[in-house]
Amino acid sequence: MSAIRNELEERFLRYVKIDTTSDEFSAEVPSTQRQYDLLNLLVEELKEMGASDVRITDYATVYGTIPATDPDPNIPAVAYFAHVDTSPAYAGDNVKPIVHRNYDGSEISLPGNSEMVLTAENSPYLMEKIGEDVVTSDGTTLLGADDKAGVAICMALGTYLLAHPEIPHGKIVLAFTPDEEIGRGVSNLKLEDVGVDVAYTLDGSKRGEVIYETFSADGAKVKIEGVSIHPGYSKGKMVNAMHLAAKFVDALPQETMSPETTEGREGFIHVYQIDGGAAAAEIHMIIRDFELDNLAQMGDIVRDKAARVQALEPRAKVTVDIKPQYRNMRYWLEDDMRPVDLARQACENIGVQVISSPIRGGTDGSRLTEMGLPTPNLFTGMQNFHGPLEWVSLHDMEKATELCIELTKLWHGAKK
Ligand SMILES: [Zn+2]
Repeated sequence: MSAIRNELEERFLRYVKIDTTSDEFSAEVPSTQRQYDLLNLLVEELKEMGASDVRITDYATVYGTIPATDPDPNIPAVAYFAHVDTSPAYAGDNVKPIVHRNYDGSEISLPGNSEMVLTAENSPYLMEKIGEDVVTSDGTTLLGADDKAGVAICMALGTYLLAHPEIPHGKIVLAFTPDEEIGRGVSNLKLEDVGVDVAYTLDGSKRGEVIYETFSADGAKVKIEGVSIHPGYSKGKMVNAMHLAAKFVDALPQETMSPETTEGREGFIHVYQIDGGAAAAEIHMIIRDFELDNLAQMGDIVRDKAARVQALEPRAKVTVDIKPQYRNMRYWLEDDMRPVDLARQACENIGVQVISSPIRGGTDGSRLTEMGLPTPNLFTGMQNFHGPLEWVSLHDMEKATELCIELTKLWHGAKK
């Protein structure tokens, strides 16, 4: 067994046992104190490894530096990011990882829950992993490969580079963030703290993924204020916000522009929550598309449907609030494709076929790229994340580590 894979397995099994579930209803930074259990451990391990300038910031991000082995100031500095939190969508405490060594291609029954079985149907990619070491949970929790696979890969990269000072490279920063799963991973991050020219998140899925296209995202809220009167004496006076909210929701496109009817490059308006009562109601939506003009058009549809409801009932007050959330990183990367091109080149150099399909979501890299730090997303191998059938191949994690080593070498040959 390779030394890198050994280390990855040892780190990964240790990290997934630490509960780091984030909490979207908490306003704290990080959203849950338990994320410090892993963040603080990483501080200790980075110091033990021999990394420099190891620190944890007041926004709960851990940084460690692998100093440049070539002092040329024109070599771009590179950061590798992973997030420590796991999704609140499924239980993340008391994780019991199971290593299925030299996987033989048969169904995998998870011992903690007889209904949880990994098959070629629910996980076609598994059939490409025969002969590899596959890790699952026991079926009662998620595994947390998202993104502890990424955390282990970054740490193994650090170990490798420090053990091989003969490899010429510029400054390398390892960064571990909280709260990615609740969309707040880098909201407080200061770019000067990272101090690099280019970055990558290790938060992708299938072997070969080099992702540089994400959704552009807006959040939309329609508020309907009715007229509230005692229901016994309200004839001709009451304006019930609930009825108007129902009309608004019914008017939204459902056959063409909803998450359940779109795929690939198609965008959607997703109505996901209604709050309120007869007096006032709020309808919450997310709007997603890869292109800004389509995003704007869908915003106009929301405004138009709201205006129609207002026209139906002038005594109500209907207001629309649409706010940007994140943007497709391609808009910035198109100006300088080197972060993507070098990642693709690194894949080819280690014999991995590149997959660059757009992802129907955002990453911390979407925000970082918009802030001015180009940050494509690289594969880790994680599959079926956010649920009990989550799994990852240690061999994919090993390839991802090799990719980062190769990429680090390629950036040494580039100029700022
Ligand atoms: Zn993730």
